[in-house]
Amino acid sequence: MHNSAATASNNNTQYQNRLFVYEVKGLSQNGNTNSLNYPIRRSGSVFITVPYHRMNQEMRRITRLGGQIVSIKPLNDDVVSEVNGTSQHRDFVSRGNLGTSHGQSNQPKQQPQAQSKSMTQTKAKKADVPVNIYRPKNPYIGKCTEIYDLVEEGGIGTCRHMTFDLSGGDLYYVEGQSIGIIPPGTDDKGNSHKLRLYSIASTRHGDAMDDKTVSLCVRKLEYQHPETGELVEGVCSTYLCNLKPGDDVAITGPVGKEMLLPDDEDANIIMMATGTGIAPFRAYLWRMFKEGDLNPDYNFKGLAWLFFGIPTSPNILYKEDLEKLEKDYPDNFRLTYAISREQKNSEGGRMYIQHRIAEYADQLWELMQNPKTHTYICGLKGMEGGIDEALTGAAAKHGVNWDEYRKQMKKEHRWHVETY
Ligand SMILES: Cc1cc2nc3c(=O)[nH]c(=O)nc-3n(C[C@H](O)[C@H](O)[C@H](O)COP(=O)(O)OP(=O)(O)OC[C@H]3O[C@@H](n4cnc5c(N)ncnc54)[C@H](O)[C@@H]3O)c2cc1C
Repeated sequence: MHNSAATASNNNTQYQNRLFVYEVKGLSQNGNTNSLNYPIRRSGSVFITVPYHRMNQEMRRITRLGGQIVSIKPLNDDVVSEVNGTSQHRDFVSRGNLGTSHGQSNQPKQQPQAQSKSMTQTKAKKADVPVNIYRPKNPYIGKCTEIYDLVEEGGIGTCRHMTFDLSGGDLYYVEGQSIGIIPPGTDDKGNSHKLRLYSIASTRHGDAMDDKTVSLCVRKLEYQHPETGELVEGVCSTYLCNLKPGDDVAITGPVGKEMLLPDDEDANIIMMATGTGIAPFRAYLWRMFKEGDLNPDYNFKGLAWLFFGIPTSPNILYKEDLEKLEKDYPDNFRLTYAISREQKNSEGGRMYIQHRIAEYADQLWELMQNPKTHTYICGLKGMEGGIDEALTGAAAKHGVNWDEYRKQMKKEHRWHVETY
């Protein structure tokens, strides 16, 4: 019976380059199954992406190891084969998806439409998000209500959390968007400064949870001029970091639809941040875990896994809050730091975020097989390269080309990148 799907598709050349997902039951972790190269949960299903040309081989291997393939599904399509003899449509979700370490049920939930729901919800939501309520010619002037340091003593550079009052205007936003800030004054040609974008670090309800504020996480840009060696300070970031409560700030936006959080409460959210790239993830995590009754339609039940790259421990932005969430929600929130100047990677060099991704690549790969898993990358430009490299190996173990797979995830609105 297993072979029927593969045999039927044998003559169908359009399948030649396609990827399929097997849902497999009945495997348990032991010496033999360890050779499969993916983590197997003690009970429930595992999801394995297999290229067409390896389908038969993979089936034989799974059968040899005592597993039962319960369904085969093209990666971006409907179920083509139910192998367990039932006609029930399966949902390829296993919440948490990281096995017993998170103490969550590994049984796929029987929610026939859940898979398409998560994707359509992301799309539908895009239409509703506010954009450019305030434009540069007519910005909203909001007062700074609070500003504080985020880098602890001994850390590198300056980074501040700041909040602006929105109560006198119409500006509203959703998690994952950015606002523009127009610094006062003119550039060296005498023109007004252009706006700079900043990711919003608060939820739509704001830090005061009264829907009347917006918060940012801003790093002051400082560098040595490559020719003169002089210290240069970034115009807008320095202006923002020097604000005092009561100061007026010209705000535009909101903008951005790339980093929206799906409405689906059962989605798994993988977040990869460097430095101030934490800003949108702070908003997600606060929405997921800190706002309770404020969001009656959003009671997050999936897994949120944050990878956070920073140079030193005092540079861990929002450290206390993040670690409290990790303690309070061990089943739903996982926190993995890459502290480059303090931790070593497996080769003895500095621990950058891509090394942590490589370390957990098999688990991440498995999690990404789940159509309800969304991956978000935010922070330093260039960080994607290392992450791609780290995941290439995990995909290759299953005969899958990572570039193709990433493109597929992007098409499904499950791969989100905002770097600057
Ligand atoms: C979508 C988006 C979201 C963003 N979110 C955030 C955020 O949440 N937090 C945050 O802090 N920033 C964020 N930024 C970056 C922010 O928009 C500004 O670019 C940043 O604050 C620097 O602006 P500035 O006015 O201080 O610097 P500017 O005065 O504009 O100077 C920047 C220029 O300095 C030069 N420069 C910079 N570094 C060097 C160097 N090492 N050597 C030589 N030249 C150099 C480059 O020419 C660069 O264009 C985001 C950017 C985008 C696009």
